[in-house]
Amino acid sequence: MEHFPRQAERNRMVDAQIVARGVCHPGVLAALRKVPRHLFIPCDCQAQAYEDHPVRIACGQTVSQPYMVAIMTELLELAPTDRVLEIGTGSGYQTAILAQLAAEVVSIERHAPLADIARQRLMELEYSNVTILCGDGSLGYYERAPYNAILVTAGSPAIPAPLKEQLGENGRLLCPAGGRDFQRLIKVIRKANTYIESESISCIFVPLIGEEGWPAQ
Ligand code: SAH
Repeated sequence: MEHFPRQAERNRMVDAQIVARGVCHPGVLAALRKVPRHLFIPCDCQAQAYEDHPVRIACGQTVSQPYMVAIMTELLELAPTDRVLEIGTGSGYQTAILAQLAAEVVSIERHAPLADIARQRLMELEYSNVTILCGDGSLGYYERAPYNAILVTAGSPAIPAPLKEQLGENGRLLCPAGGRDFQRLIKVIRKANTYIESESISCIFVPLIGEEGWPAQ
């Protein structure tokens, strides 16, 4: 990938917001320094691209705060051979970070305009290991299962059962679960038919809307 403008801002973002808060996975930090976050953000908000908060995108959604992207990616413990499923493509920024670290990423978005914009952006940036689909990701995507890692980037009332079932052996699933406006990040590791759950940080994500998530309002 070529070098993109605003490198100094990306480096500052990584040093001040990510390393300073304890994320230290070298691959995650390298991906965050490299991927041009501003290109995933609508023109009128691009000035905020490297700031320490979520940023508004189309369809009333947001791209997560850089720190949240970093910690979730670190917790997924990705290997270069991994196949990853992401639920909630949004801007496609998190998808690009995952694509830097894994062999293949399938990402599902329920809003067609967001899926289209993200697909176009990732194509322009020459990510050939990414597939963007439009649909209800709370059901996962059985056609390409099992996955080594599944990342849900929207808040769910509980961990969707179909996603657990689509994890491979030693697969890791991360999902914000809890209330509609406040969740805890839950990590699930699959060992045969046992699922080991642990709780990580608290967080605030837009709701996961779908059959295994919240009803649309
Ligand atoms: N990972 C994104 C974060 C986007 S916010 C990024 O880096 O920009 C979460 C996204 O999840 C929103 O775009 C929302 O539309 C989407 N979403 C909510 N429920 C969904 C569902 N059931 N299936 C797929 N996408 C969903």
